[in-house]
Amino acid sequence: MNNKLYGKLIFELSHEGRKAYSLPSNKYGNYELPADMRRQADAELPECDELTVVRHYTNMSGNNFGVDNGFYPLGSCTMKYNPYIDEEIAARPEFTAVHPAQPANTCQGALAVYYNLQKSLAAITGLSEFTLNPFAGAHGELTGLMIIRAYHESRGDFKRVKVIVPDSAHGTNPASAAVCGLEVVEVKSNADGTIDIDHLRSLLDDTVAAIMMTNPNTLGLFEPGIPEIAKIVHECGALLYYDGANLNPMLGASRPGDMGFDVMHINLHKTFSTPHGGGGPGCGPVGVREGLERFLPKPKVVKNGDMYEIETGGEGEIHVGAFLGNFDVAVKAYTYILSLGRENIKMVGPLATLNANYIKESLKDVYELPINGLCKHEFVFDGLKDKSTGVTTMDVAKRLLDFGFHAPTIYFPLLFHEAMMIEPTESEGKDTIDEFINIMREIAREAKEEPDLVKNAPHNTPIGRVDDVQAAKHPVLKF
Ligand SMILES: *Cc1c(COP(=O)(O)O)cnc(C)c1O
Repeated sequence: MNNKLYGKLIFELSHEGRKAYSLPSNKYGNYELPADMRRQADAELPECDELTVVRHYTNMSGNNFGVDNGFYPLGSCTMKYNPYIDEEIAARPEFTAVHPAQPANTCQGALAVYYNLQKSLAAITGLSEFTLNPFAGAHGELTGLMIIRAYHESRGDFKRVKVIVPDSAHGTNPASAAVCGLEVVEVKSNADGTIDIDHLRSLLDDTVAAIMMTNPNTLGLFEPGIPEIAKIVHECGALLYYDGANLNPMLGASRPGDMGFDVMHINLHKTFSTPHGGGGPGCGPVGVREGLERFLPKPKVVKNGDMYEIETGGEGEIHVGAFLGNFDVAVKAYTYILSLGRENIKMVGPLATLNANYIKESLKDVYELPINGLCKHEFVFDGLKDKSTGVTTMDVAKRLLDFGFHAPTIYFPLLFHEAMMIEPTESEGKDTIDEFINIMREIAREAKEEPDLVKNAPHNTPIGRVDDVQAAKHPVLKF
């Protein structure tokens, strides 16, 4: 794109007097706005003709990378395919035109979606009951920890102020515990990336409210110590919290409820379609085991005979300020679950696991694999195996963009210097995955034979290598 009109801001294309709109005729008669509500001067808006506007935004959208453009192996984020039927169903006026405050008997269909999704998630996870109110994974964590605190306090136990979090946990775990007013205690990982149970045992006493676990953990490893961990945590009177943001490897494999977990959240926007980014849209349902249902936040959709109703909460109950949550995301998740069905949903975990292991095994001779063995939905390389030419994980990630692939998650988790966390997801086919493997091998060859090509990448993207340090220290946030 060498036309100089492209790559400009829309304000720079403005010419006084040009326009790309025509307002419909006024059907409603004139109404004079009160003088103090009227604008004193015209708004400073760009003035452009229609072709300029259309070309500007069409070209700009082409500069963006999304799941619709290409492979997106971002670990710990499950940025997977969002089937278009989910969008179609969620966009139906029967769902978009309901108002949260309309009487329950006029929106039975919408409430049925809520109710059935709550029940589906309970069946999938082996827990008793779910709320869909939280807006994100982190919001779900906070809600879950509020439930755990309310549970301890309901027993008159006010001394449990600590939450144990593994050192490999997602950053939101300790943050949510702190926001909930609880103290964070870190439990170490073994050299193989799993929880150090002896260290955990030494931390357990009657001041511990809960342990937060991610399983498979951030390295994509299934925690083998869960039965033992559940036993010792429960014996000390604390509860087990399951971070189920990325639940896809578990679908059809095992259920947190059966493993002894008491409270969990799921990211519908990771595991059950709805691509997300830049802060939304999200939905972080929280589930609890039998006996903890009364601590779930209100409002809540319940079924009374044949009718669905919205139960509102009373004084002292947990509210998370989100009414019934992000309905649109819930509709997509329910559509996703129904369109896969009970049998196919059991294939999600095995396929996510197969895809990740296939990539890992196909690349481990050229990329450093610090933790060998079977992974679940994702795994971590520690940079190139041959680091002699100085090509870093950052360089490889940038070079991937030249080939039309999104980069994996890089420099996370912090356990390895050159971490490169790859998650293909279950929805990618073998052709795409083989192409990714070929390109990763090609980049490894370049790193050895033409290292500057990789170090100066990307070469084909609208914006080249940005200066991260300057951008962080001196951000220019406006035109
Ligand atoms: C994404 C993620 C979260 C946080 O979810 P948000 O919706 O971004 O708040 C928590 N834990 C894990 C393991 C995650 O991958």
